[in-house]
Amino acid sequence: MKIGGLQKFSLIDFPQKSSAIIFTQGCNFRCEYCHNPELVYYNLFKIPIPVEQIFSFLETRTKQLDAVVITGGEPTYQPDLIDFIKKIKSMKYLIKLDTNGSNPEIIKKIIDEQLIDFIAMDIKATFDKYSYVSCVPVDIEKIKTSIEIIKNSHIKFEFRTTYDRTKLLSTDIEKMKEFFTQDINYRIQHCNTIKH
Ligand code: SF4
Repeated sequence: MKIGGLQKFSLIDFPQKSSAIIFTQGCNFRCEYCHNPELVYYNLFKIPIPVEQIFSFLETRTKQLDAVVITGGEPTYQPDLIDFIKKIKSMKYLIKLDTNGSNPEIIKKIIDEQLIDFIAMDIKATFDKYSYVSCVPVDIEKIKTSIEIIKNSHIKFEFRTTYDRTKLLSTDIEKMKEFFTQDINYRIQHCNTIKH
């Protein structure tokens, strides 16, 4: 695991739970509004925090913290993510994963193995504008597959769109709201509040 940051306490990143947040390094997208460039651009990476240091910290906080949020960057491209989650799960933490949804194979595996309790996926744009907003070529079928996997899972989930007004029109937002029918947990957030 390449871990670029650890926030030791949060009351807002896992609904109704206290959590620690682990930030992984590396992302396959290049959203212009990204607030974590030091987790995206290799030349900005800091020396990674050793995994053992993360585990030691979490072992000392099992009575104070309910959950661990794994975010990035894009965590699903970390080759040892599953083992990492299993280790944290063994400490009885609830786990939330933040993802851009571009890696449905890993998302499915993690959900099927019941390794996480909550998943939040960014919906970058309407499907026709996905590559434009993410600033890389995006395989839209993978995005659609991730949405279906998450919608059909039995864990809590959230879809969210960062409203980048330089790239998205209000009509795009309306289209996305229509796509995610009322029973789906979908929200819009503004650029200045984004974390992922
Ligand atoms: S906003 Fe998220 S998906 Fe986009 S570049 Fe930043 S970390 Fe990657």
